[in-house]
Amino acid sequence: MTCAPDATILAALERRLGPKGFTRDAAAMEPWLSDWRGRVHGAAAALLSPANTDEVQAIVQLAAAARVAIVPQGGNTSMVAGATPSTSGNALLLSLRRMNAIRALSSEDNVAVAEAGVILSDLHEAAAGIGRRFPLSLGAKGSARISGLISTNAGGTQVLRFGTMRALVVGIEAVLPSGERFDGLSALRKDNRGYDLRQLLIGAEGTLGVVTAASLRLVPAIGARAVAWVGLSDPHAALALLRRLEAGTGDAIESFEAMPANVLAMVLRHIPGTRAPLAGDHAWNVLIEATAPAGAPDPVEAITALLAEAAGDGLIEDAIVATSEAQAEALWKLRESIAEAERGDGPAAKHDIAVPVSVVPDFLVEGSAAVEQKFAGSRVVAFGHLGDGNIHFNVMAPAGADGRAWVEREGPAVNAFVHDFVAARGGSLSAEHGIGQLRLTEFARTAGPVRLGVLRAIKDALDPLGIMNPGKLVPPLS
Ligand SMILES: Cc1cc2nc3c(=O)[nH]c(=O)nc-3n(C[C@H](O)[C@H](O)[C@H](O)COP(=O)(O)OP(=O)(O)OC[C@H]3O[C@@H](n4cnc5c(N)ncnc54)[C@H](O)[C@@H]3O)c2cc1C
Repeated sequence: MTCAPDATILAALERRLGPKGFTRDAAAMEPWLSDWRGRVHGAAAALLSPANTDEVQAIVQLAAAARVAIVPQGGNTSMVAGATPSTSGNALLLSLRRMNAIRALSSEDNVAVAEAGVILSDLHEAAAGIGRRFPLSLGAKGSARISGLISTNAGGTQVLRFGTMRALVVGIEAVLPSGERFDGLSALRKDNRGYDLRQLLIGAEGTLGVVTAASLRLVPAIGARAVAWVGLSDPHAALALLRRLEAGTGDAIESFEAMPANVLAMVLRHIPGTRAPLAGDHAWNVLIEATAPAGAPDPVEAITALLAEAAGDGLIEDAIVATSEAQAEALWKLRESIAEAERGDGPAAKHDIAVPVSVVPDFLVEGSAAVEQKFAGSRVVAFGHLGDGNIHFNVMAPAGADGRAWVEREGPAVNAFVHDFVAARGGSLSAEHGIGQLRLTEFARTAGPVRLGVLRAIKDALDPLGIMNPGKLVPPLS
């Protein structure tokens, strides 16, 4: 059980952090107390913005001594309200925004050492400056920060080739709930000293400590890329196309993002300056990116030839390959604006599911039909990272209904139906967004006693006072 901070601890924090690092001003705190989608609203006793790891350590030590809850926050783009405090107003909101230095960049180790508050697109730019890149990207790249990406084990659009954050974090520095500092910022590619605290902290959603910096894997910069947009009739054809392109290009394919006609229409409706890439209507669309490092053959020729062959065989209906960087960016904008367009389109019962890649096409067809039959008039809007088996499967209210009221009334039943459908196909109810607050009930319902027991044992071992991000990820004992 955590406590509200008293005047003594608040004064101690204010003294230690100074005016730039401590505020209780309602207007200054307000933007950080709701989640990105504006569904969950919380309150905090103070907003703390430390400038360095020593200050984070001082915060955690004071909080641990007084049993006060800490909610770590990066860019606050969580899709599951993971960085939103409860409404009690007793927690300290700990923002990593000011810790935004890139401490080192090494083209010899192929590693960047970035502080927790570095924004993803700033890391991309810094890596490009030494002829390297950090191969993880997502629609929130201008806001999401390294610590949030680590703490949610973020995925994004290049998982197909480079994996999630778990595959990209080489070392970690963190302050544990005890207030001790874990110095694990090495650039070692091999380190077999038993249990891996780095991997425990990745995906821990702030429940096991505060990540303060990380060593991150870099790969060679892109020498040339082919970005294509393909129209086709169904997701089975899309998967067949992916396997054909992989066979024809080695491991050059790094993104394979699918969206049906209704998602493309939603983007065109809500995002200014976008337009349909192909003439004609296509039930499904796929955005493909293939890359090659400097010195390797440009993938444009191979992708163009393979798509022409696929069109000749009737596998796809139409395609374009971008002929300029501006055109490539315009195609990517259509994909990366989906979350923003959805926000404009209104509430939906949302799901971030994973199934084995081979199951995705059947899941999309059968899952959509099953949901629309069970919940009369509802409409499925499903899109995502087809190449890695992760689909954002969202269910909208029937046309003409009050969307918010419908989601409030039917949402829990829709969630349970979709998650059971996914579980029956060997899938997961959280592919890349984590559990946070919004998936907690469903996670508790479906996780099973062994998974939950291990989760609680790890939490109790590292955070026996329960001060780190309470109410997120770890379901309470019922
Ligand atoms: C437009 C849009 C597109 C998106 N696309 C994708 C996508 O393709 N793939 C994907 O995986 N996600 C996606 N997301 C979700 C989101 O961007 C990611 O979850 C991201 O990793 C969150 O980073 P953040 O810095 O905003 O973290 P926050 O939202 O601030 O926090 C996320 C979690 O991490 C914890 N945390 C933050 N900092 C620390 C720290 N220093 N120490 C310990 N815990 C900490 C928080 O407590 C919280 O539980 C998208 C979001 C948006 C808005």
